[in-house]
Amino acid sequence: MSKIVRTTILTCTVFAACATLGRASDETPASALDRLRTGNATFVANASQALPVTADQRQALTKGQHPFAIVLSCADSRVPPEVIFHTGLGELFVVRVAGEALDKSVLASIEYAAEHLHVPALVVMGHESCGAVKAAIETKPGAASMGPNLDYLVKNIKPAFARMRTAADAEHLRDAILANVEQVVNDLLARSEILTHLHATGKLQIAGAYYELESGRVRFSEPVQPTPDVSHASPSAQHQQR
Ligand SMILES: [Zn+2]
Repeated sequence: MSKIVRTTILTCTVFAACATLGRASDETPASALDRLRTGNATFVANASQALPVTADQRQALTKGQHPFAIVLSCADSRVPPEVIFHTGLGELFVVRVAGEALDKSVLASIEYAAEHLHVPALVVMGHESCGAVKAAIETKPGAASMGPNLDYLVKNIKPAFARMRTAADAEHLRDAILANVEQVVNDLLARSEILTHLHATGKLQIAGAYYELESGRVRFSEPVQPTPDVSHASPSAQHQQR
């Protein structure tokens, strides 16, 4: 039995909703990213309102979920993906953790959405003034412990900008946040056979993104190309809004 098949069985054991799966979102990988861009444009234009949620919608969602995009973003209270992309219940599969830091639980959550819910797009979104990235920059070797859990988080983020000149000022912090997004995208593919396979076969598009707190604008990278070299995953080279 291959590793991928084994993982599939395990994730179905963990997620009780597997029995309701099978129907994919109506979106293609490309249209899913376009839908995120359109939703964000509505948000930026101050044209978005909270989407109504009716009892019928809640009832329909008890039968299963068919989100059109996965968003891995920071836990920061200022960057809720459902608001930023103007989406409602059941439309986004959101995984949030400070600094978008990966661990096995985060990877498993994303794999579940991509493999079992057939979600066609994955966005890794950093944001302006990210405190987790700033803490990783400011924590120097030999610094006093912040406690085992915060130390773990900082240690997890730090490799993203180990080779760049970093400082906590706005310009350098932005570069570090972009580098972290790039590192997370690359790590997702390096550490997940499931995601790599879905990406290589065109079933999953992956893009990096950067959210600006004041404007509300999300700047996307080009979708990562399914080649052995995924080093161009960063939104840093593609700052134009798409
Ligand atoms: Zn943050």
